[in-house]
Amino acid sequence: MRECGIPEEEIFAFLAGRKAEDLSHDTILSSMCTPPHPVAARAHMLFLETNLGDPGLFPGTAQIERELVALLGSLYHLPEAAGYASSGGTESNIQALRIAKEQGRVAAPNVVVPSSSHFSFEKACRMLGLELRKAPLDTDRRVDHAGVEALIDESTVALVGVVGTTEYGMVDPVAALARLAIEHDLFLHVDAAFGGLVVPFLLDPPDFDFALDGVSSIAVDPHKMGLSTIPAGCLLVREPGLLELLNVDTPYLSVRQEYTLAGTRPGAPVVGAYAVLEYLGREGMRALVEGCMENTRRLIAGLEALGIERAATPDVNVATFRTTSAPPGWRVSFTRENDMRCVCMPHVSGDVVERFIASAERHYA
Ligand code: PLP
Repeated sequence: MRECGIPEEEIFAFLAGRKAEDLSHDTILSSMCTPPHPVAARAHMLFLETNLGDPGLFPGTAQIERELVALLGSLYHLPEAAGYASSGGTESNIQALRIAKEQGRVAAPNVVVPSSSHFSFEKACRMLGLELRKAPLDTDRRVDHAGVEALIDESTVALVGVVGTTEYGMVDPVAALARLAIEHDLFLHVDAAFGGLVVPFLLDPPDFDFALDGVSSIAVDPHKMGLSTIPAGCLLVREPGLLELLNVDTPYLSVRQEYTLAGTRPGAPVVGAYAVLEYLGREGMRALVEGCMENTRRLIAGLEALGIERAATPDVNVATFRTTSAPPGWRVSFTRENDMRCVCMPHVSGDVVERFIASAERHYA
């Protein structure tokens, strides 16, 4: 660290230079994040100093967190769901498995996840000393519930279903998983980090939420399709008692106990998430999701017309193709199976999709 500070303008000139090195979203098709909605950014700026880790000092901000949980609970057919704002899907998934482990209390616990699940479950299992059992997928890349059942034994503490898989954009058959969870008396966590703000706004949404009795918890990330500022995740649970299993004493804070993973927690993105969801309402979200789905269909049709075969027919706005080569100048990603993956986030507009298809036409000619 310098002995004497440098002028503000000099610092900002330096920061602007570094920011200019970042990629423009115009060419990014590999990310599940997107620039925040201006309403989210404005709300975020108003709450920069707030700390939800000490909620008694910020009762207004803490109330907005409760409103966000209630809004998402009602979207997921359980207005009285409990929950809190996390830093994103990774934290929510870790916390859900912590709850399942506490509840299960067996000697060598295991969890059964779809083999398509996000790598955050691997982190969670390593941290928590859980055995990770990966269930096979069906030919459409959704988890095979018979394969899940075959992996359940007396040491299983949780099942996981994914709503909007990271790589291929598939929605697992959560209703079938919920039946298994009830039958075997297991905790069922739904990782809807991506699809939680897509699926409810589709024309014919599959069941995946608390309307299904077997669903115990849901992870959803407003910082993905919710147009929030980063980091904004949310973990919802069916009953407050589930979160309370994680309580530790917090002697010097304005609350006596906390169940969150992080201590200090930013209020700003939580308020941003709440503001933008209130601003758009269900109608605005339906329009946003319909646009992204339309662009996904157009991208798939455009590339298939060039002879590039789709790798899956996605349930949400992730398009994948059987090619290992991407048109130059674009940032796409590749799945574990080496398929090209393009996420049609809100910044991937119809124009961007047409430009991508035009580049593809030249590239694959
Ligand atoms: N779960 C799913 C399905 C995801 O797609 C992701 C990230 O893309 C995560 C969890 C992890 O979310 P985060 O990176 O916000 O922790």
